[in-house]
Amino acid sequence: MIQRPTGVCRFTKVTLALVGVFGCGFAPPVERYDLAIAGVTLIDGNGGPPRQDVSVYVRDGRIAAVADARQQRTAETVVDGAGKYLVPGLIDAHAHPFPVEESFPEFVRHGVTSILIPGCSVCSPENLARARALSTSGELAAPRVFHTSQHFTMEGRHPVKTYPSPDWVEGRTVYFLREQGDAAGAVEAVADQPIVGIKLTIEDGPVPPLVEMIPVERVREVVEAAHERGLEVFAHVSSVKGLRVAEAGGVDHLLHFVGLDIDWARDAAMIDRLRQRDPSWVTTLMVDKALLYPLHPQWLEALEASGVADADEILRLQASRSAGRSLEVLEQLYPGRRPTLEGILGPQVEDLRGLHDRGFSLVVGTDTANRFIFPGRSVHEEMEILALGFEPSEILPMATRNAAAMLGALDELGTLEVGKRADMVLLEADPLEDIRNVRRIGGVWRDGQLLFAAESSRP
Ligand SMILES: [Zn+2]
Repeated sequence: MIQRPTGVCRFTKVTLALVGVFGCGFAPPVERYDLAIAGVTLIDGNGGPPRQDVSVYVRDGRIAAVADARQQRTAETVVDGAGKYLVPGLIDAHAHPFPVEESFPEFVRHGVTSILIPGCSVCSPENLARARALSTSGELAAPRVFHTSQHFTMEGRHPVKTYPSPDWVEGRTVYFLREQGDAAGAVEAVADQPIVGIKLTIEDGPVPPLVEMIPVERVREVVEAAHERGLEVFAHVSSVKGLRVAEAGGVDHLLHFVGLDIDWARDAAMIDRLRQRDPSWVTTLMVDKALLYPLHPQWLEALEASGVADADEILRLQASRSAGRSLEVLEQLYPGRRPTLEGILGPQVEDLRGLHDRGFSLVVGTDTANRFIFPGRSVHEEMEILALGFEPSEILPMATRNAAAMLGALDELGTLEVGKRADMVLLEADPLEDIRNVRRIGGVWRDGQLLFAAESSRP
C-alpha cells in the first residue's frame, strides 16, 4: 500500500504519482472515503460498552476511521446511521450450506457474512472449491466461506453408517482411519485445500447408542498428525462420553455443545484440563430447537411471515417429522425433561454459562441445513436461545469476535476496528437491549460492499 506524503513533498518517483492526488504542500490532505455510516451507535463486537454518535468510514473494503460524528468527513456514499446500531457481520460457525445458490443470499439477508462448513456428505474438494468461488464471484450475495477438511472417522460409524448416503465416498467426502499409523497420510491428503483444520467425528449415536465410538488412541494419532502439519483438530462430540475421548485425545476445538449434560462435580478435572488448552466451543443448540419445532405450529407460522419458508416448504417440514416422533426422541435423549424450550435447553444454557464463567470461548453455530434449521435465520434463533442464560452483550461476541478467533481470522474479521474488513450489519433497534433486535436488519455490507438493504433503509 502506498503511504501518503506526511509534509515535505519530495519529488521522487513514488511521490510524483501522489502529487496528482493530494497536491504538494504542508497541509494534511483531505481524507476521502468510499463509505460512511454516519452518526451511528457502534457496537464493535468486543463486548464493551457501545460508542454513541460516531461515524464509521470505509476505504478499499476496510474500516479506515471511526470518528466523532460532529467531525464531518467526505465519503462517496453516506448512510444515515442516526438512531441505528452498527455491529460486526455475524458468523455461523457450523453450517452445511448446500445448495449454496439458495442458502448464500439467506445468510446475507440475516446479517451472516461468514460461515464455517465443518464437512458434510457432499463436501468433496470440488464442491467446496465451487462454494468458495461462488462466495467471491460477486454473482450473488454470499458470505465468506471457511471450511474444515472432509470427515475423519472409522468405517461403520458416525456419520457414514448413521446417516447413510451414496454421497459418502472414501477419499472424497470422508476418510476412514483403518489401521494404526494411517492418520498422517489422511491429513496429508486433505492438507492442500485451504482448510482451517481437520474435522474428526467422536460419536456413538446420535440417538443412543448405534455405533462404536472412535478409540482415544486413534484420536490422539489424528491430533499428532494434524499438529505436525500445523493444523488444528475440530471435533464433533454430542455427549459427555465423547467429550472425555476428545479431551484425552487432545483435540483443539469442539463443534457442538448440544446434547451434553455436565456434572460439575464428576467432570471438574476433565473440564479443567480442557480449559488449559483454550479451546473454542460451538453451541449448535438449534439441533434441539429443531426437535421442538413440530410441537410449536406458531414457530412455523413465523417462518412464513418472515419469508424464510413458503407454504409448500412448511407443509413438507410438517410431513417430515410429527409432534409424536419429536416427543419420543426428546424423551429418549432427555428423560424426564419438559419438552419446552426452557425444559430442554435451559439446563444446557446453564452448563454453557458455567463454561463461559470458567473462561471457555463460546461460539455461535447452528448446524443448518438440518431439518428445521434455516440458513441465517437460525443464527438469530441460536442467539435467542443463549439469552436464557446470557446478556446480549455476552452473546454478540460469540457470533462475531469469538468465531473469528476460532477461525484464525481475528486480524481481519470479528470486530469493527480500524484496519479490519468492513463486514458490518446496520440494525434498526438496539441488540444490547434485546438480542431479538438482531432481526431488525437495515443493511449488510461485506468488504464495504452493500449486499443487502431492507426496503425501509435503502440508501
Ligand atoms: Zn454438522
